Amino acid sequence: MPHLDADRLSLIALGEPATDEERAHLDACDECALELAELEYTVIVGRSTVTVGDLEAPPERVWAGIADELGLGATGMTSTTGGMPTAGGMPTAGETERAEAAAPVAADEEAPAAAAPARRRRGIRVVFALAASIALIVAVVGTWTLVRETQPVEIAAATLDAFPDHPDASGTAVVVEKADGARQVEVDLDDGEPSDGFREVWLITEDASALVSLGVLEGSTGVFPVPDDIDLSEYVLVDVSQEPADGDPTHSGDSIVRGELGFA
Ligand SMILES: [Zn+2]
Repeated sequence: MPHLDADRLSLIALGEPATDEERAHLDACDECALELAELEYTVIVGRSTVTVGDLEAPPERVWAGIADELGLGATGMTSTTGGMPTAGGMPTAGETERAEAAAPVAADEEAPAAAAPARRRRGIRVVFALAASIALIVAVVGTWTLVRETQPVEIAAATLDAFPDHPDASGTAVVVEKADGARQVEVDLDDGEPSDGFREVWLITEDASALVSLGVLEGSTGVFPVPDDIDLSEYVLVDVSQEPADGDPTHSGDSIVRGELGFA
């Protein structure tokens, strides 16, 4: 397996669960594991920054590094003129010549010491770029999550077919899951029959060994919460029954329509 995709690493760092395959790779590959660890750290820093909403001023040497990187000149940044060239500050021809004459010596002396800061500056630049992109990802993913969470998601649906005693009936059932994980079934029954007694909506296991009542269907359309302990992969049949007003809470045995849920 090749190294993990950078986008995937970012999403995993942001909390998206890794697949078994990705987890196995992270366990085996130090390079990807290290990259993930760095991303996770950046996410923590990014999140705490977003939460606190109060940016701390970076240390002077960080600004100096940025100024240097942007070619502003570290000394100019800290001077009272704010780094803007002034007439008085411009080197005269004579000064330039002296500077050029001195340059080779100065370069030789500074070269070994300059190598380390250069590496550090590159590191700072990478970290800042990373932090900026992670902040963007956090914002985008946060917005996307917010949008997604406010909309119920359809997780299953069924076409409800008529039983022989109710040849003209038909219906549909749609199961949606809300942001908080609660599920509900929207049932739509189309039959022209006069209703004496009432209609009741049920979830039934595939082998009909167990069933649960969701409630009474008033009119042709109703929305019914699915009890939390009901596993819809077991209770796959949606049933609407005709019930006499006899006070018996069990299924009358007179089903109008029934259909099996297909999962999205
Ligand atoms: Zn790898």
